[in-house]
Amino acid sequence: MITFLSGGTGTPKLLRGMQKVMDRHEISVVVNTAEDIWISGNHISPDLDTVMYLFAGILNTETWWGIRSDTFTTHEEVTRLGADEFIAIGDRDRAVHIARGEMMRNGMRLTNVTKILCERFGVRENVLPMTDTEVTTQVKTDLGLIHFQEYWVRAKGKIEIEEVLRSYDEPPVATEEVLLAVAASDAVIIGPSNPITSILPILSCEGMKQALGGKPVIAVSPFIGDAPVSGPAGVLMKASGFEPSSIGTFTCYEGITDIFVQDIRDPVQVSDSVRFDTLMTDEDKSIALAHDILELVRKC
Ligand code: GDP
Repeated sequence: MITFLSGGTGTPKLLRGMQKVMDRHEISVVVNTAEDIWISGNHISPDLDTVMYLFAGILNTETWWGIRSDTFTTHEEVTRLGADEFIAIGDRDRAVHIARGEMMRNGMRLTNVTKILCERFGVRENVLPMTDTEVTTQVKTDLGLIHFQEYWVRAKGKIEIEEVLRSYDEPPVATEEVLLAVAASDAVIIGPSNPITSILPILSCEGMKQALGGKPVIAVSPFIGDAPVSGPAGVLMKASGFEPSSIGTFTCYEGITDIFVQDIRDPVQVSDSVRFDTLMTDEDKSIALAHDILELVRKC
């Protein structure tokens, strides 16, 4: 068994390769839920949705969110009727959010809701939300503290941010299922996800760092030079006091990783790192990187 820590783009690209080269029942994924948000009364969990849709074979891999060939009739209509739906939600995607929201309103743990949804989609991998309680990444801007989705989707990342914060009513705790998965794993892979909005929220769940203590941990950098391959990781790293680079990523994970992987093109040098081609521009590239990383795991 291998456990992956995942957001909704970089690590799913690696998982796309892993599911082709590993026994799919041997894959566990601990997924960030700090970007979750209720919209139009339904529960959106962007990273859980992406990972689940990927394993179900229905993910839109052009955008890395939503369901391939989905329609947007309901989104267009509710927006026309005046709803403030700032995220474009496909019709089939919305069905998942409705079902999840309903189960959660009935008191079911997110872990169990995810299990049911994954079963319905025929997912064979073990997909686990990092925690069962609500935790939200917020950014401090001139507009005040706003949800990360408001910053990245509504404002298209075009406003200055001073700080990144996580808010919650009760401190998030890694679930028993997450701790069991890590305990049963030969290694833990921190995929090339956004360190600030995807990985640190997972690592901050109570019990998570201790659980990783006894395991070989391999982290893959999402940066090449001073820019991430995609997305807002650069500005978020700066706002959190880290250099926007592989060095900053390595610092974020200090004391946690045993092996750090950076891209062969990365001009920034992290000492003792392993170099692979990490640019997963298509499925074959994802498979090649998956092979490289499994070879590392075998040597651990
Ligand atoms: P989010 O939840 O949508 O932000 O997705 P993640 O946190 O999982 O991934 C976002 C990160 O993936 C970004 O910082 C990108 O730099 C990184 N990323 C995307 N594609 C690739 C890739 O092919 N290779 C590497 N190394 N990083 C990638």
